[in-house]
Amino acid sequence: MPAKGVIDPQRLSDITRTLSSDEFEGRAPGSAGETRTIAYLVDQFKAAGLEPAGPDGSYVQVVPLVRTQVPADASMSVTEAGKRRPLVQQQDMAALALRPVDRVQIAGAPLVFVGYGVSAPERGWDDYKDVDLRGKVAVYLVNDPDFEAIPGEDAYGRFGGRAATYYARWTYKYEEAARRGAIAALIVHETEPAAYGWNTAIAPNGEGYDIVRADPAKEKLLLQSWLHRDAAVEILRGAGLDFEALKKSARGKAFQPIQLRDSTFAADFPLAHARIDSHNVLGKITGRRYPNESIMVGGHWDAYGIGEPDANGLRFRAGALDDAIGMAGAIEIARAFKRGPRPGRTIVFSAWTAEERGLLGSEYYADHPWLPLETTVANFTMDVLQPNGLARDIVLVGAGQNELETLLTHRAAGQGRVVTPDAKPERGLAFRADHFPFAKRGVPTLLLMGIGGGHDLVNGGREAGDRWVSEFTAQCYHQACDRWSASWDLAGAAQDVTLVYQMAGQLANSREWPQWNPGSEFKAVRDSSVAQRR
Ligand SMILES: [Zn+2]
Repeated sequence: MPAKGVIDPQRLSDITRTLSSDEFEGRAPGSAGETRTIAYLVDQFKAAGLEPAGPDGSYVQVVPLVRTQVPADASMSVTEAGKRRPLVQQQDMAALALRPVDRVQIAGAPLVFVGYGVSAPERGWDDYKDVDLRGKVAVYLVNDPDFEAIPGEDAYGRFGGRAATYYARWTYKYEEAARRGAIAALIVHETEPAAYGWNTAIAPNGEGYDIVRADPAKEKLLLQSWLHRDAAVEILRGAGLDFEALKKSARGKAFQPIQLRDSTFAADFPLAHARIDSHNVLGKITGRRYPNESIMVGGHWDAYGIGEPDANGLRFRAGALDDAIGMAGAIEIARAFKRGPRPGRTIVFSAWTAEERGLLGSEYYADHPWLPLETTVANFTMDVLQPNGLARDIVLVGAGQNELETLLTHRAAGQGRVVTPDAKPERGLAFRADHFPFAKRGVPTLLLMGIGGGHDLVNGGREAGDRWVSEFTAQCYHQACDRWSASWDLAGAAQDVTLVYQMAGQLANSREWPQWNPGSEFKAVRDSSVAQRR
């Protein structure tokens, strides 16, 4: 039997219902709905007995964001041997520009094909060799070299096979290009390795978001874009290159970046940009013995705000399961801790903003942490919990990364449940939630995401679990249909939240420092600060 009564399903339901009600207008960052959301969460954190954990004794951390907009008629082109080929936004390109500049201007920049653009010393892989990308446009393949590799090729089995690694993500490629001084990067879009179609790759209205950067010119590319496969094939052909042959060569260790012969990229368009101050909400229980060592528990408060009416006339995309219920979980875990003795280590509770805009609230905190990340023991993130009653298992997204998984297996067994790994790791969900800015900086993380795969439900088994995930993903995820329902059964979600409570409690009352597994792309950065955890 589950540890009864630690987390009350009815309270999870009530908080989720409130946060996803029309009063909160879909909780878009920078909206009136945000103001109400922040006020509500601060009240809840206070009522739960949490101390403030934001700057200057407040519960709120200001998160300065920039919003930019690439116009639909943005002028972009490739010139090949004197012949100009226009690239049409939303048709050939899905471009974003995240530096807050008034005009994006790139003239005659060389294009360099860098294969998958992976630099992974722990896997003995380097696509860049000694190429100089400064002032150039890097052209990438999507995913990593292992995704389409076949036996006998160098890349085969060297990454995650069909499972996405961090190197597979577009965010990684843009970051790497910026680190290497490129002015722009284009990623060739292919539906299967991208795990979504061209229409999903296009940002509505060319709108992009970022946190305000200290040095945007150093940290962000001037232009980042998906490049439609058809356009990429033609551009490469114009330079005398065959796309499929290039892909094959990029799966070999000997691959060398190729500067496209007689080809240059140009862009020239005005960029609308505005600053928005959004907010993270942070509360804590200060540790009795080791206050500087912390365990983090949280999720994101934001959702998609107001949109066009859907088929049922609904306009608020209120994110009930994504992720109002994660907020409810964090609040109820806080209340559960406050009922017991003060833990030895500090527990930080977080409600992040702008997750749906690119994990920006959590990224900003990770960049401006309240407690050092070197002594942050673990981060637990809840993002979507399933509403279909008790389950015989718990789905783990991104399995195989670190020792928190052992803890989860152990605690789940205490509830008579087993851990099931993410059914479709190629979707890269493990890199698409608020735990990730922490993982990237070496903090061991665990993500509970109820759409990672169908649960083995007590009522209906795996089949019913899978059916719900398919239906929810297709019809409700990020849509107005993700709303509270009286027919939910949150008994299973309450068990999931209980697991987070138990794992956080175990770590908070121990001297344990969970480790990344050998071979994890996040191990090296954690190991570099080991001295600070003695
Ligand atoms: Zn979410």
